[in-house]
Amino acid sequence: MLQSLNKEFRANNIKLVAVSKTKPVSQILELYQQGQRIFGENRVVEMVEKKHQLPEDIDWHLIGHLQTNKVKLIAPFVQLIHSVDSYKLLKEINKQAIKQDRIIDVLLQFKIAKEDTKYGFDFSTAATMLKDNGFNALKNIRIVGVMGMATFTYDEQQVRLEFRSLKGIFDQLKADFFATAPYFQEISMGMSGDYKIAIEEGSTMVRIGSLIFGARN
Ligand SMILES: *Cc1c(COP(=O)(O)O)cnc(C)c1O
Repeated sequence: MLQSLNKEFRANNIKLVAVSKTKPVSQILELYQQGQRIFGENRVVEMVEKKHQLPEDIDWHLIGHLQTNKVKLIAPFVQLIHSVDSYKLLKEINKQAIKQDRIIDVLLQFKIAKEDTKYGFDFSTAATMLKDNGFNALKNIRIVGVMGMATFTYDEQQVRLEFRSLKGIFDQLKADFFATAPYFQEISMGMSGDYKIAIEEGSTMVRIGSLIFGARN
């Protein structure tokens, strides 16, 4: 599965985040030995535990909701945080990045699904943050794009329109705030069930778990 996905993605310049939440380090290591380097976890403590048992050159991506009090645990090593959903969280990531003498790459998560349970910015809240004077002082974070999750539904047209709305948000942010920032280029959207639609709608980074690792309990 991994090889055929990678072939498909490489041809289109799409990055594959292998979502390893709940899966043992032995399974992660198997994929590592097949060449996979980017792994995504949604819980901080689980990611830290796994990081210490696995090769140094894995890129760890946090994809789940992040509490401010846990940022310090991942600040030393995390490669990309997909799930920045508040100004407060962004400031805390910057603060912990300063302590580590790093610049931490992040994505702004947008709420594109109809379900209430999903975290994320709406466009105007994000725009207000990006216009705030204090934002320019955050020198140790770099916003490299956006992330979103579509509604969990069999209605493919709805999923497609939600992904399209995230691409629209990306384009608008790029024009308004990141026109001179070539690093603002990632659209993290698409999971096992909907990644094909996500790619058709402009995804640059897909987060795939069960399709690679098998179903979770
Ligand atoms: C679990 C998870 C995924 C992967 O889900 P699959 O359906 O197993 O591919 C992707 N993104 C986020 C944010 C997740 O929590």
